[in-house]
Amino acid sequence: MLYQRSSQLFAEAEKVIPGGVNSPVRAFKSVGGTPIYVKEAKGAYLYDEDGNRLIDYINSWGPMILGHAYQPVVDAVVEKAKLGTSFGMPTEIETQIAALAVSMVPNVDKIRFVNSGTEACMSAVRLARGFTKREKIIKFKGCYHGHSDSFLIQAGSGAVTFGSPNSPGVTQGTAKDTLLATYNDLENVKMILESNPGEVAAIIIEPVAGNMGCIPPQEGFLQGLRSLCDEHGTLLIFDEVMTGFRLARGGAQELFGVNADLVTFGKVIGGGLPVGAFAGRAEIMDYLAPVGPVYQAGTLSGNPLAMAAGLTMLQEIERDKNLFKRLDEKTAYLEKGIRKVLEEKQVPFTINKIGSMISVFFDIREVVDFDTAGYGNNETFKKFFHGLLANGVYIAPSSYETWFITDALTYDDLDFTIGAVDKVFS
Ligand code: PMP
Repeated sequence: MLYQRSSQLFAEAEKVIPGGVNSPVRAFKSVGGTPIYVKEAKGAYLYDEDGNRLIDYINSWGPMILGHAYQPVVDAVVEKAKLGTSFGMPTEIETQIAALAVSMVPNVDKIRFVNSGTEACMSAVRLARGFTKREKIIKFKGCYHGHSDSFLIQAGSGAVTFGSPNSPGVTQGTAKDTLLATYNDLENVKMILESNPGEVAAIIIEPVAGNMGCIPPQEGFLQGLRSLCDEHGTLLIFDEVMTGFRLARGGAQELFGVNADLVTFGKVIGGGLPVGAFAGRAEIMDYLAPVGPVYQAGTLSGNPLAMAAGLTMLQEIERDKNLFKRLDEKTAYLEKGIRKVLEEKQVPFTINKIGSMISVFFDIREVVDFDTAGYGNNETFKKFFHGLLANGVYIAPSSYETWFITDALTYDDLDFTIGAVDKVFS
């Protein structure tokens, strides 16, 4: 495949945009080469500026669970746009999507919409601090909760891909309030809570980690966190930016049967437009301005186009009772196919999968936390990434990311992908 025009466009972009990209994970820095410029996308496919067609396993890093340019979402946005694109005043559709989201997600009474997952997590932590009148938070090494200061401490995703899990610019004052724990290690969390008695406002976690590759929680881990939080008067925040409306209708809370005190959303809830949200019980959420003392705001929050896309997406998910089953089956089929090929070719690997999230690590050892996730960051991954790309399959350009399966994928697409894996290692 040729990427002449993408290369030219990237060279132009580098002159006026730092690193040529508006979000670091888009750059091919860790795998080498130049990013691909998308012209358009439909269903499971991306069409780039050089005329190549790629099967997309990133899906805008999660939102496009029903595929690109999903017609009902596109129509809803177009219709809304005709009525004006932003007012900074309340609109009925905000209540409609809020009511639907609250009805789908367990254990939440109220939800507030923001413009990104970062904002959602940042605001949820502020709210937790205001509510508990405590300052510290516990986060897990390798989890990513957006780029706000408190979270850029041993962060996953692009932060680790580009070697800055602790970003310069985050003050020591901020960093000292973020306590780091090891994913899937309950004893470690217990120890941290016990050595900071009465000081930890919240534990924030990706209930399925997706930003150090896909790492599901081990049996009892989330339940254990719930008990520890109850014991210590600490709030449990599930960052469901990736898992919300993806792993189940009610997200990870529903899938694992564990209640969080606050839940954050992004990605799917916006149907591909810039949306984030955070939700919880009324007693906590009413701590927010204008009824409560914790301040949080946004000029474009609840934007009508974004709400139209998000509402339509949630309605489709609500309507299609077999969606999650189909997604699980497609992902399982893909896993089985890839597993078979890699075994035949005697390539050392580990596959982590849950629902429609999957990662292939090129190491035989189990991947359960940030340190073990590092096993997958190797030359074989680079070869795999470029090999797939050359064969028309696009996965995230880093081993610290998850593949997102979309319902638009057909079994032919999955077979095509498995065939591409075979070619890479032949
Ligand atoms: N939390 C999680 C779990 C995420 O995966 C992400 C983004 N990948 C974020 C928060 C931040 O979301 P955004 O990029 O929309 O700010």
